[in-house]
Amino acid sequence: MTETKHEFQAEVAKLLHIVAHSLYSEKEIFLRELVSNASDACDRLRYAALTEPSLTEGDSDFDVRLSVDKEAKTLTIADNGIGMSKQEMVENLGTIARSGTSNFVEQLSEDDNKAVSVIGQFGVGFYSSFMVAHKVEVVSRKAGESEAHKWTSDGAGSYTISEASREGRGTTITLHLKEDASEYLEAHRIRSVIRTYADHIALPVILSSTEDGAEDETLNTASALWTRPKSEITDEQYIEFYHHVGQAYDEPWSIIHSKVEGVLEYSMLLFLPSQQPFDLFNPDRKSSLKLYVKRVFITDDCEELVPAYLRFVKGIVDSEDLPLNVSREMLQNNPVLRKIRSGLVKKVISEIEKKAKDDAEAFHIFWDNFGAVLKEGIYEDMEYGERLLKLAVFKTTNSESYSSLADYLAECLKIKSTFIILQVTVRKPFAKARNLRVSKRRELRFCC
Ligand code: ADP
Repeated sequence: MTETKHEFQAEVAKLLHIVAHSLYSEKEIFLRELVSNASDACDRLRYAALTEPSLTEGDSDFDVRLSVDKEAKTLTIADNGIGMSKQEMVENLGTIARSGTSNFVEQLSEDDNKAVSVIGQFGVGFYSSFMVAHKVEVVSRKAGESEAHKWTSDGAGSYTISEASREGRGTTITLHLKEDASEYLEAHRIRSVIRTYADHIALPVILSSTEDGAEDETLNTASALWTRPKSEITDEQYIEFYHHVGQAYDEPWSIIHSKVEGVLEYSMLLFLPSQQPFDLFNPDRKSSLKLYVKRVFITDDCEELVPAYLRFVKGIVDSEDLPLNVSREMLQNNPVLRKIRSGLVKKVISEIEKKAKDDAEAFHIFWDNFGAVLKEGIYEDMEYGERLLKLAVFKTTNSESYSSLADYLAECLKIKSTFIILQVTVRKPFAKARNLRVSKRRELRFCC
């Protein structure tokens, strides 16, 4: 059997060192990360099978199976999702693919205690396994392929890949638990972690029985959260879903859950974050919204769904009107998507306006995080630019606290000023379209 040895990318080695030596108290999140990956892998296969049904032939019911071996001290997480080829294992489990993340890790200092708490907010995905395991084995067989491969590592600098066998497609991750993580061999502990972190996962998470004759146990509700009535969803469930779907670790500043019925039918479950994502201004950053059609995940890379100035909005949109076999090309200039986008923008801006009115202080914190991005909409969005301008708040030379343009004008009128200059950077075409005078210094002039 051929076995190849590979070095981790430098940033991964560093991340693993921090993860393995951290005293991070919430170690249980490793299970959320692994179950979340398993569910994403099933989502991706379900989508691929729309155009290639043979991929799921003979096994079209997706699930995630957990099992323990108390003697061997192992916890296993298996899915029948899309699986990984050898090359994909190298790319996914040896490097950090997400844009921006690599730079972020590079800046972390290994000795810095703060790194641990930063990691808590930022999430380390698959690599969190090494918080509880001294050795991790991943056996994966890609859907549609007959061979499987095994990835093995103790998290210290390198990993190996060898040929393996696996009955059917999917991925099995075996964690050889550290002495101080033996609690994850106990059914009650696993049950509690899944109920806390993974109840919203839309496919069954099953704990295999260890005793002869006993039944396997489904640990979660296993229905898509956004399809459940609002009254039946707790705050904790919303927050956990946000963490899963948005790869986020803060609490949402606002949650928008709505179902639109009429000419078009769609649901949206959107989250406005309370913390600025570290890659908000990364030019490669894409929107964080996932598009579903009739509960089937389609893509998380759909620029048409949301304008760039709302790229911080996370969550899902589920359409009843788009065809299930919608292709990437069909998503461009799609009239259904355009209408959904327009409804979504309206909803998000109305929500921000409402929150701004109800709690100015909280809104100012939100503005600190996302104001700079929302301001892009002032000149980009012909329909909502005006409303965004009204929402915008600024610090003035008179005060450290924020004031809106309306407040500022009112203040100016009080002191009988008749002419003020507001210095904003504005794109000329925008100003032209609005008949605004733009001086050479790129100032917008407001008279009162
Ligand atoms: P993230 O999930 O944030 O992309 P992870 O480190 O958790 O980061 O996983 C890296 C990648 O490894 C995933 O994007 C996915 O492509 C792949 N992966 C992880 N777990 C699985 C799995 N169970 N099945 C298939 N692919 C997986």
